[in-house]
Amino acid sequence: MSHSKASCLCGAVKITAEEVNPKFTVCHCQSCRTWGGAPFFAVKCGAKVKIEGADKVKMYESSSWASRGFCIECGTHLFFKFKESGEYNMPVGLFSGLNGLEMDMQYFSDMRPSYYCFSNKTQEMTTAEIMAYFAQEV
Ligand SMILES: [Zn+2]
Ligand SMILES: [Zn+2]
Repeated sequence: MSHSKASCLCGAVKITAEEVNPKFTVCHCQSCRTWGGAPFFAVKCGAKVKIEGADKVKMYESSSWASRGFCIECGTHLFFKFKESGEYNMPVGLFSGLNGLEMDMQYFSDMRPSYYCFSNKTQEMTTAEIMAYFAQEV
């Protein structure tokens, strides 16, 4: 875990995440690919997150369990936030000083389109596996 600072392109929003897990996840689901035009490379940042310039953050409720936030000035994608836990997943590219980054997991591997693939050896979870996993947690 390392402590990290991030900023959007225009600098209106600054984020400090106290706990960033350097083992990051790639999500291939249709929502993430529509949101960013590509799979979502996300680091888990927990709930201890400080946001400066929060009035410049627009939240979009992309599902019943989570919202996505972006800067209203420059459009930078800032986070995916789970409603219940208040935990954030943030784009790995927002942070410049993270150590030990490692692509660890690919979510919705069955929704990964055929026009790209990664050579990284990672764990993978299909839609069915993810649904079963979250059903267990409840
Ligand atoms: Zn901005
Ligand atoms: Zn996704």
